[in-house]
Amino acid sequence: MTIASNLAEIRARIGKAKLIAVSKFHPEEAVREALDGGQRVFGENYVKEAQEKFRDLRAEYPDIELHLIGHLQKNKAKAAVEIFDVIQTLDSRELAKELAKALQETGKRPSFYIEVKFGDEPKKTGIAPTVTEIGSLLAYSRDVCGLNVVGLMCIPPEGENPQSYFKKLKELADILSLSHISMGMSGDYEKAIERGATEVRIGTAIFGPRPSHF
Ligand SMILES: *Cc1c(COP(=O)(O)O)cnc(C)c1O
Repeated sequence: MTIASNLAEIRARIGKAKLIAVSKFHPEEAVREALDGGQRVFGENYVKEAQEKFRDLRAEYPDIELHLIGHLQKNKAKAAVEIFDVIQTLDSRELAKELAKALQETGKRPSFYIEVKFGDEPKKTGIAPTVTEIGSLLAYSRDVCGLNVVGLMCIPPEGENPQSYFKKLKELADILSLSHISMGMSGDYEKAIERGATEVRIGTAIFGPRPSHF
């Protein structure tokens, strides 16, 4: 299997959903293979890794769309808005405030999704899956900070059947009129699409197993 053939196979299965190719820990050459296979939308978890990997590639391929799908620390807000088109991990008012400052300083206009946390895994980030909690961060981010928030993302708790979480995220997005629903990874993307995902984040099924570090 090659990266290009993996991409073709996944595209055939996901219909109209957007495919985000998650290239974390994989080297620039792997991204180039995906680019040769026609892929333009990529997801990365770390700001610094994305800067190093995509700086030259972005100049070469102006139509690349880069999503941040890993936790964002406040002190990296400015660097993140410089390089990412979409930041999927907005999860606090403090971060929203910092991002607002970063937008002013850079003039950039990325889109944002709010990260929702299901379950209580201590290492996971995201905000509670209720209309009140998400609605409150949404209003603050939009009205006070001027952020263009357009979606929700989640990673269901590990080792559990993800179906009910996918269903819940879709319901929350509908109630809050957020049109981008980012859920589903290599192991469960078809289920996520059945439940209403508009975009899936797929790494392993495209690039193979991840090296342990970048
Ligand atoms: C790594 C990662 C993915 C991709 O996971 P695979 O199982 O390799 O497809 C998707 N979403 C997030 C948030 C990730 O950190």
